[in-house]
Amino acid sequence: MINEVTKGSLFPVEEGAELYNFKFNKGTEYVQAYVLNANSFLDNTTVPYRLNSACITSELFGDLRCDCKWQLDEAIKLVKKQGFGIITYHANHEGKGHGLSAKLSTFKSNGEVNAKYKNVGKNEEDVRDFSTAVEILKYFGVTNVELIGNNYSKKNYLTAHGIIIKHQTPLIYNLES
Ligand SMILES: [Zn+2]
Repeated sequence: MINEVTKGSLFPVEEGAELYNFKFNKGTEYVQAYVLNANSFLDNTTVPYRLNSACITSELFGDLRCDCKWQLDEAIKLVKKQGFGIITYHANHEGKGHGLSAKLSTFKSNGEVNAKYKNVGKNEEDVRDFSTAVEILKYFGVTNVELIGNNYSKKNYLTAHGIIIKHQTPLIYNLES
């Protein structure tokens, strides 16, 4: 359950945009949400939404094994283009929920990953908790979403917990673009 909500504007100030910090009462879990024009989330509005699992290696430090930074940037662009939407940012989803240490230990110096990392990509090894995403959507009264992204476990979890995926906008990295 959400037990503390704080929000503020990023600079330069963007009309209708706010960054939220949600604290959950299961320990010290925090999830951030970039929210654009929450006053547009009327009943039954289909809200562009991305459930973004943290990938520090790519998003902050530019590691090119994955396209997570590209996907996050594209999601922000898509939300801004539509004029409203939500992106939740889940720091504890690093390494499919196993943590940054587990992930880094699979990185080889030649840029590849070892078999363990590939296994971590499979659903049965995925220990990410998506429940906080559902709670945040409910906090904003959002039931219908346009899901930005390709991940089946996220889609299935949201659907199983009362979120209706009206549309899905996949993010497919195109090397030639
Ligand atoms: Zn990544």
